Amino acid sequence: MLNPGSGDKEKRGKDFIRVIIEADNVSGRYGGRVETRFPPEPNGYLHIGHAKSICLNFGIAREYGGECHLRFDDTNPEKEELEYVRSIEEDVKWLGFDWGKHLYYASDYYDSFYAYALELIKKGKAYVCDLSADDIRAYRGTPTQPGKNSPFRDRSVDENLMLFERMKNGEFPDGARVLRAKIDMAHPNITMRDPALYRIKRVTHHRTGDKWCIYPMYDFAHPISDAIEKITHSICTLEFEDHRPLYDWLLDNITIDCHPRQVEFARLNLTYTVMSKRKLLELVREGLVAGWDDPRMPTISGLRRRGVTPEAIRAFAERIGVDKTNSTVDVALLEYFIREDLNRRAPRVMGVLRPLKVIIDNYPEGKTEEFDAENNPEDPSAGMRKVIFSREIYIEQDDFREAPPKGYFRLSPGREVRLKHTYYITCQSIVKDEKTGEIAELHCTYDPDSRGGGTPDGRKVQGTLHWVSVAHAVEADVRLYDRLFVAENPDEAAEGGDFRSNINPRSLETLSGCKMEQSIKSAKPGDTFQFLRHGYFCLDRDSADGKPVFNRTATLRDSWAKIEKKK
Ligand code: ATP
Ligand code: MG
Repeated sequence: MLNPGSGDKEKRGKDFIRVIIEADNVSGRYGGRVETRFPPEPNGYLHIGHAKSICLNFGIAREYGGECHLRFDDTNPEKEELEYVRSIEEDVKWLGFDWGKHLYYASDYYDSFYAYALELIKKGKAYVCDLSADDIRAYRGTPTQPGKNSPFRDRSVDENLMLFERMKNGEFPDGARVLRAKIDMAHPNITMRDPALYRIKRVTHHRTGDKWCIYPMYDFAHPISDAIEKITHSICTLEFEDHRPLYDWLLDNITIDCHPRQVEFARLNLTYTVMSKRKLLELVREGLVAGWDDPRMPTISGLRRRGVTPEAIRAFAERIGVDKTNSTVDVALLEYFIREDLNRRAPRVMGVLRPLKVIIDNYPEGKTEEFDAENNPEDPSAGMRKVIFSREIYIEQDDFREAPPKGYFRLSPGREVRLKHTYYITCQSIVKDEKTGEIAELHCTYDPDSRGGGTPDGRKVQGTLHWVSVAHAVEADVRLYDRLFVAENPDEAAEGGDFRSNINPRSLETLSGCKMEQSIKSAKPGDTFQFLRHGYFCLDRDSADGKPVFNRTATLRDSWAKIEKKK
């Protein structure tokens, strides 16, 4: 398991990607240039897995004085949407990265792709194939058996040129023909057995409209896009390792003056999380979450709305590093970085989530007092604020027990506790609701000599409670989020079920009538706080309508530290 304490990159040495880049810089393969790209398909919102790739690509460009391009890989027209393009740009910027003038769309290269396809045909390295999709599959062979040549493989260059042009002109129905590379049907790597380069597909594209009815395949468009942009290192995930020979074959067989190096790394998987965009889209479409930016989603926008900062995500990405083998990272490690970061930056406030009213009988009616409270013990520069005390306060229902079990040090009849920042109080009596029998309020007395948290006689109390003055409280709603899935691997479901059967039915609990100290009145949506003893919370944008709504970003309990200790 990863140890969060040893996150120093220098100590761990350079990862294999940086080793490759530095070797290329030494050999002068790219003249010392380092140019990377992040190429999302605009078919969903970005998630924490993409964040790993973004931090890697933009991080490398920054470290080696190069640039990182943002390229929308929009060669698969049926799914693309402008909303996704907009969200991807927003998320990359929010993570703290800048593509400068390097914003591209693969669809801008359609004319070039077409010209390169013609070049391959003219060189006898591509042909139009009339086999059906099923036949193409049947002819392809298996990992242990070679494939068979297509009966259309030996068409003349002229016939191929004529047919490809007619494909482009819309003379054939969708799927009737494809353009294929002519490589080797007996190649040990199936990807190299005459892969398809172009297909007929009548779909309106979000940028090129109906100009094209043939669209390039990813394996054809991607290397050419990289080379057009003069990328030096094309960093992608492991499943493209088998495609690397094709990447190189294409660039070796067309006239283009750049040949980027493809390097593969392991994609990020997290426990208790689904990462596939298709599944995330299903969660959104089926209303199983409140949208792409639902704070339970592993999307960048969901994490942002939950109160996670870009710094926490970048620190996490740096810590997990890059690897050559697929593995799953414990989501507790991400939560650890979220807490670490908020512990340093989030001001402490007092908020009572399930209020119980306390009347301090010997405190004068109408009197108020201000106490100084530190905003963040981790950061003296965060300064102090005032909290207002009065005769009637709220405490947490959980902080009182009529019959305290052994080891319970909070308030109970006759017991004295400390109220954070103010006085000691002692519980004198309980008032119950006549009908329900539930505790309605408590009557306490305070010790005026305990102002600021101590007494002249040095008397010790064991419990310290947070509280909020009734007359000064700001009412708020609080959303307590938990993990969206109960299973460590949500994709593994019991017979007959799928990942949906692993959804946590208690992933969201909404509390209303919570009482917050008055200092939160000036908070803006996106601001984060530590509610003392409760965890980290973020003011939601829904608060714009009036009543504040807080999303729980993380509890205070650090299960990662516990895991580490157990070992
Ligand atoms: P999904 O399989 O979830 O649909 P994808 O790989 O199809 O994801 P793209 O939009 O093509 O999504 O991804 C853009 C870039 O982000 C790619 O370079 C891809 O390698 C990288 N990426 C996607 N998911 C992860 C992940 N879990 N970990 C690391 N990098 C990822
Ligand atoms: Mg993809």
